Formats: sequence, structure tokens, C-alpha cells
Amino acid sequence: MATELLFRADAYLKTATARVTTASERGIELDRTIFYPTGGGQPGDTGAIVRAGGARIPVIDTRKGETPDRVLHVVAPGNPLPEPGEAVTLALDWERRHRHMRLHTALHVMSCVVVAPVTGGQIAQDKARLDFDIDLGLLDAARIEREVNAITARGIETETVWISDAELDARPELVKTMSVQPPRGAGRVRLLRIPGVDLQPCGGTHVRNLAEIGPIRVLRIRNEGKRNKRVEIALAD
Ligand SMILES: [Zn+2]
Repeated sequence: MATELLFRADAYLKTATARVTTASERGIELDRTIFYPTGGGQPGDTGAIVRAGGARIPVIDTRKGETPDRVLHVVAPGNPLPEPGEAVTLALDWERRHRHMRLHTALHVMSCVVVAPVTGGQIAQDKARLDFDIDLGLLDAARIEREVNAITARGIETETVWISDAELDARPELVKTMSVQPPRGAGRVRLLRIPGVDLQPCGGTHVRNLAEIGPIRVLRIRNEGKRNKRVEIALAD
């Protein structure tokens, strides 16, 4: 059964109620969830599934299930599992997720400051990186830091928009990330728009306003291969 992805419409939900659909050693599936499953370089969420009696089942990771529209909540071993049909409350590790959202949105901004194809990317709680197909000599840490911070300081509101597969096919320039092609086949594709800055397909979670990111620092720039010049950033605060 498909899981309704509540974070798609509202990335700020810290808690929600849901119903268990399946539960096994592999993980728990729910009719709906606020937990983001690993994908697009963003780690899966952690937190807890709370049973009616108050027992907390720690969620140590969230992954896509057997099909991309299913979500598997991976729980710490040794916990009694809930029954299918059981009503539960979801509690997200919000502090960790919000850092993912800030860093993820910062990567969107950086992909506009560095004008080159993106060949990879990864987000963690404390740092994030993008790989570019560019001459290493063209990457200037001080300039990237200054320009990203100048854009985020403008406090622009971000927007989620949807376009049809056909529209996306007609505008291939929207896809900057060569390593992550947007999922097609559902008829429509989700895009993140930062008005005046960026528009690209992305299924991840983002901050509402760029000001939430705060200043970033460039940690290092290094050569990771012919087409992979890596820029690693961190939140400055
Ligand atoms: Zn994104």
C-alpha cells in the first residue's frame, strides 16, 4: 500500500497521527508519514513511532520500500512491533531534519553560484557537498561563500511547483543534477523554485525562507575525479 507523503505538502510537520499497514523485522509501514526516506542525497529521517499506551519505538532510519511510493520506517531491534491497523503518533527528530533542510536548500543556492553541471551531492547533519564538472581552478572558496551568503541573506521565500512530465521533457535545462534524474512516470514532477535564483526538480525537503539557512562556510574544495570537483559546506552557526 502506498504511503501518503505528508512532508511533500508541509516539510514542517513535527508530529502526525497515522495507522500501521505492515510491521516486520525490516521495518514499519504506515498509511501516511512525516518521515523523509533516503533519496536525492538527503538522509532518511529518525525519530519515534509512539503507540497508544505511550510506548516509543525508536525509528533509526527511513527508506523507500519495495516500490518508490512506499516508505519503510526502520526500527531499532528488540522493540515489540505494533499490529497492522493500530493507530500511532509519529514524532520526528526535528532538529536533525531541520539541519538537513537548511543544508539541502543551501545546495540549491550553491548550484546557482557555481555555474557548472552538478555530478553528485550528499547531505549530512553537519555538512553537505556538491560535485561539479568544472576546472578546479575556477572554484574559489571565498567567492562561493560570499555569493551564497549574499543570496540567502535576501530572505527569499521558496515555492514548490509541479509540472507535467511533457513540460519537463521540453525544458531539459531545468535538470542540473546529472546524477539524480527526476522520477518520471507519475505524470508530474515536483520542482523547487527560489524566485529569481533557481528552479529545478527536487523531491527533498526545503526551508520556507532562505533566511532560515543562515550563513554557510566552505569547508574544503578538492578533486574527486575528472568530472567531480567537490565543494563541501557547513552551517556557520
Ligand atoms: Zn531540493
